[in-house]
Amino acid sequence: MVTTTLLWLRRDLRLHDNPALVAAADADRLLPVYVFDEDHYGTADFGGTDSFTYEKTGGRRTQFRIDAIADLRSRLRDRGSDLVVRVGDPETVLSTLADRVDADAVHVHTRPTPEERAVERAVERVVDADLVRHWSHTLYHPDDLPNDVSTIDDTYTPFRKAVESGARVRTPASVPTLPDRPAAAVDAGVIPDATDLGVEADPIDDRAVLAFEGGETEGLARLDEYLWATDSLREYKETRNGLLGRDYSSKFSPWLNEGCLSPRRVSAAVDAYEDERVANDSTYWLRFELLWRDFFQFQFAKHGGTFFTPGGIRRRDIAWREDDAAFDRWTRGETGIPFVDANMRELAATGYLSNRGRQNAASFLANDLRVDWRWGAAYFETRLLDYDPASNYGNWAYVAGVGNDSRNRSFDVLWQAHRYDPDAEYVRRWVSELDRLPPDRAHEPWTLPDDERAALDYPAPMVDPETQYGEG
Ligand SMILES: Cc1cc2nc3c(=O)[nH]c(=O)nc-3n(C[C@H](O)[C@H](O)[C@H](O)COP(=O)(O)OP(=O)(O)OC[C@H]3O[C@@H](n4cnc5c(N)ncnc54)[C@H](O)[C@@H]3O)c2cc1C
Repeated sequence: MVTTTLLWLRRDLRLHDNPALVAAADADRLLPVYVFDEDHYGTADFGGTDSFTYEKTGGRRTQFRIDAIADLRSRLRDRGSDLVVRVGDPETVLSTLADRVDADAVHVHTRPTPEERAVERAVERVVDADLVRHWSHTLYHPDDLPNDVSTIDDTYTPFRKAVESGARVRTPASVPTLPDRPAAAVDAGVIPDATDLGVEADPIDDRAVLAFEGGETEGLARLDEYLWATDSLREYKETRNGLLGRDYSSKFSPWLNEGCLSPRRVSAAVDAYEDERVANDSTYWLRFELLWRDFFQFQFAKHGGTFFTPGGIRRRDIAWREDDAAFDRWTRGETGIPFVDANMRELAATGYLSNRGRQNAASFLANDLRVDWRWGAAYFETRLLDYDPASNYGNWAYVAGVGNDSRNRSFDVLWQAHRYDPDAEYVRRWVSELDRLPPDRAHEPWTLPDDERAALDYPAPMVDPETQYGEG
């Protein structure tokens, strides 16, 4: 009897280290499918209320994804297979295709976050074939953790220590030989462009740290560049708090989060780099950061939707403000605090932001303005090229003091500005109104004489820097 499988690709847009592909390829016929889920584009409301609405996927991430799909299709075609592409809802598309090819099983990579799980369950209910779940988007597989995810520590350090001493990273899976396509004719479908999905394409800003083209080909090329071509990994620990340029950090995140790059492949490349070049604090630190990524994935598996509540997993009772005007100024990069504004403008113009920038921008909204942190997280959800629900909402909750740390995570953004941008090069790159000022003044334009300040066309600060940050 001929066996037929469907491979339902989601945020696992690669051939390398893809266990769902390996399992699905163990059949006589294989149909790889990608569905542009209509619910991911256009406006969404927050937690079932319409008091706050936002765009779920902005133009840059949409384009990144489209490029990743085109790349995956071409890589599959090179191996005699293909990628069927549809726009619609996954239940209808997958049940129709499974019937059409008489599939025995549908293989998919599962995710721990509530919306992704709900879609899986919906598909499982309607598809007339077994839904087989795989897990491969983290460095460590949940089955290999020293504790069950339901009992992992809610604080990073004990979690990390337990994992480092009690678990190991699996070897990345090889690319299998791909079976023929099913005999039944299935139209491959046209890859939509952003406007077909109702998303406005965003222009490219030449100040972006990288061009960030989606796809496995580009993801692997960036891995090669960062480790081998530029040797940047050697100094990652010293440079990772940077703000300007291509190589202060790996910039792997967009490819990791759309699944164009497997974290285990990154880890294997770091192993090889350690053997051939150097093993030092920096090579360790890249794994340390990838483990932060794992931590949030497993935390979402443990706590689920509680992460999206105002008080978070700590169930804290904080009177978050719903201040539209303050929120708008923050999104536009017009808070009057140059370091915050520079970061918000970089995010809007490019879809990428350094970790240091994200921490400061988030802390300003949540801790200084006390605006509902989830509004900020939702804005990041729209804009980020590397958006992932667990990494984004998990980090936001952490900074807002409702997540995985009981300490006050409030940042003194003025101190941070002077510490991480001592020459105000970053601020002057993004806040052109201030580009002629000397560094101290660029960070604190309110200290200028009144007439010079009035001539700047730059807003007065939304918070009083003196009371909020002391002397800076
Ligand atoms: C408010 C806020 C929101 C964030 N939202 C996201 C998000 O939606 N998606 C996302 O991938 N990261 C998010 N981060 C984490 C971090 O800022 C980015 O992963 C990192 O800046 C990406 O750049 P990079 O690949 O050069 O990182 P590198 O410094 O080179 O780190 C290597 C990899 O480690 C992982 N990593 C590093 N730091 C973290 C962290 N704190 N949490 C989780 N993973 C981490 C990422 O996968 C990253 O690609 C957020 C951080 C904050 C403070």
